[in-house]
Amino acid sequence: MSKDNKRKFLVILISPSGGGKTAIFTKILAENSEIKYSISFTTRKARNNEIDGVHYNFISEEKFLEMKESGDFLESALVHGYWYGTSKSYINNMLKKNHIIMDIDVQGAKQIMNSDIDHITIFILPPSREVWLDRLKGRGTDSDDVIQVRLESAEKEIQEIRDFQYLVINDDLDKAVNDIELIIRAEENKIKRYINIEDYYGG
Ligand code: 5GP
Repeated sequence: MSKDNKRKFLVILISPSGGGKTAIFTKILAENSEIKYSISFTTRKARNNEIDGVHYNFISEEKFLEMKESGDFLESALVHGYWYGTSKSYINNMLKKNHIIMDIDVQGAKQIMNSDIDHITIFILPPSREVWLDRLKGRGTDSDDVIQVRLESAEKEIQEIRDFQYLVINDDLDKAVNDIELIIRAEENKIKRYINIEDYYGG
């Protein structure tokens, strides 16, 4: 019986900046062709290395609010002054064949948690506060002010950690990725996710 006999679901990864989320996403996508990345819509400008339609769909605020008004978003949130959102039709379409991993903030995650769309939530944390600060500073891309803002918003997010299902500590990248893959495999095998379970026992 093919793997397609199991329902696909959303995998929401939540992590404060400096948690190492980008490296985790990259590795999971490289290793698991059946898992796809959800490309969000945003009103912020593209950074130098970002490509429209690959990293984000970059749109105007006017267009974003129009889509929001029309109910096009599964979830949306204002993060650091810009709008971010996930298209409902895009997700429903991809879920027919693939698990989808999402990089969204806590507000967006909570909207999905309150919806009836099938999902799991995984919080990712660095192994310690020292490592976390080193990672934030080590990027060399952000000023002390920016780091301070990120720290404060991360601390708020961490206070809500008990609302989520899984916690993965990102001490070692390979281990963190392996843990996430194991979580996805276990979730995939839940009885409720088999579409025609009778096919396996003739019942
Ligand atoms: P950045 O602009 O640095 O790529 O992302 C800023 C924040 O927006 C991150 O916390 C990221 O998780 C969040 N984000 C990215 N896409 C979405 C989205 O579609 N919905 C929500 N709610 N947050 C998002």
